[in-house]
Amino acid sequence: MSPAPGGRPGFPARLGGLAKGSAAAGAAAAGPRSTAVRAAAPQGLGLDSVAVRQRMVQRLAQAGVAQAEVLRAMGGVPRHLFVDTALVTQAYEDTSLPIGWGQTISKPSVVARMVQLLLQAPCVQAGGQLGRVLEIGTGCGYQAAVLSCLVREVYTVERLRAMHERARERLRPLRLANVHLILGDGMLGYAAGAPYAGIISAAGGEQLPPAWQEQLAVGGRLVAPVAGSGGVQALQVVDRTAQGYVHSVLEAVHFVPLKSGIA
Ligand code: SAH
Repeated sequence: MSPAPGGRPGFPARLGGLAKGSAAAGAAAAGPRSTAVRAAAPQGLGLDSVAVRQRMVQRLAQAGVAQAEVLRAMGGVPRHLFVDTALVTQAYEDTSLPIGWGQTISKPSVVARMVQLLLQAPCVQAGGQLGRVLEIGTGCGYQAAVLSCLVREVYTVERLRAMHERARERLRPLRLANVHLILGDGMLGYAAGAPYAGIISAAGGEQLPPAWQEQLAVGGRLVAPVAGSGGVQALQVVDRTAQGYVHSVLEAVHFVPLKSGIA
């Protein structure tokens, strides 16, 4: 799917693409008044997922997520399709959920916070758009789907083969042509797609792997959890400017560990 005219990531067009994909995805595109989602009722969600998702978006806005495009993306991606059937009724609560192999999907407010930080990269503040973004830790693929609505290309790396395969299955019906799934060790980044306007990690190590900063474009931003002294994780933001790297440490967070190698 090509970007919308003017180089914008093209959210509406992509939702159009979703509509072509599956009944469930079509429901996501159809808007709050649609009854199509009831017909789709994927994975036993006994509620109108569009309405439930809109309530989640309202709560995110009340909690301070101010960027309209982030709210729109969160409102468009069917989170319930990314979790196991038994957890579907919790899909739109602000809670992290198990996604298998000891990993978790971050709670929606954390996804929104991370993505919003990423979209405030220096190159975007200078009037541009986010081009290529690297995500470390595909997990179930949910955040990659959110990012696909907001940036031009998403490269997402997962080290667990089974998780990577499952994410591929979950994303397939959504037909997001700008999401590239890679099985690999994200601690090495993904050189083939570099440089990136944004890098976002869903797993936290003791320090930032050097490859991430090297693969960040000038004007780009890296957002990742990093463990500080005492092992408490905090969100770190690194902006790459023409003069060098500018680090900020933000609030405490709790992400799964960043591990090396493929398993
Ligand atoms: N963004 C994900 C969250 C996944 S949890 C989602 O929306 O579901 C974090 C993921 O990071 C886990 O799947 C874990 O296996 C993965 N991970 C940890 N270390 C990694 C590494 N070095 N490279 C790639 N993935 C890694």
